[in-house]
Amino acid sequence: MPKTVEAYIGIGSNLADPQQQVIDVLPHLNQIRQTSLLSHSSLYQSAAVSDIEQEDYINAVACLSTSLRPMELLLELQAIEYAFYRQRSDELKWAPRTMDLDIILFGNIQQNDSHLHIPHAEMKNRLFVLMPLLEIAPDLYIPGLGSLSYLIQHAPQLRINRLDRDASNRLSEN
Ligand code: ADP
Ligand code: MG
Repeated sequence: MPKTVEAYIGIGSNLADPQQQVIDVLPHLNQIRQTSLLSHSSLYQSAAVSDIEQEDYINAVACLSTSLRPMELLLELQAIEYAFYRQRSDELKWAPRTMDLDIILFGNIQQNDSHLHIPHAEMKNRLFVLMPLLEIAPDLYIPGLGSLSYLIQHAPQLRINRLDRDASNRLSEN
């Protein structure tokens, strides 16, 4: 049996009914081969970090159990992004997107090559990743970075709020 690890996935969307997009992607994560969805956070709404004027983001974090390797998981996540009609643009970095799926953590792995940076290179700067992560894994220690609570204390300020029960209820019905 291949070894199973817990991987945390950052989910983000700010186009085409983003709340629904984030809710709808969860069963797709559970259907990835050799992978199951263990838990997920509530939905959060945050200001876009971008030079381009754009809508707020809806974010969540999911915890997967997987026996895939990191690169195999990334390819599966990219296939799901495309299934959600994500348009990639070379000119527009940080452009609005229907679905962004990032590997935040992959067990205790530390990896940095041309395709993958794990733990995610920007996680320490992104309250929209750290806050949902705190909700589902409060005691997490991030390899090379420190405890989650330390990172939250030192992260740049960002307008972010956890969405109300209606959105969370829609989420738990999945
Ligand atoms: P971003 O998520 O930074 O807005 P993209 O989703 O377009 O941008 O990702 C661009 C590239 O980032 C991907 O092709 C992938 O190879 C690389 N990448 C590096 N580390 C990670 C990671 N931890 N999770 C997801 N993608 C990553
Ligand atoms: Mg991405």
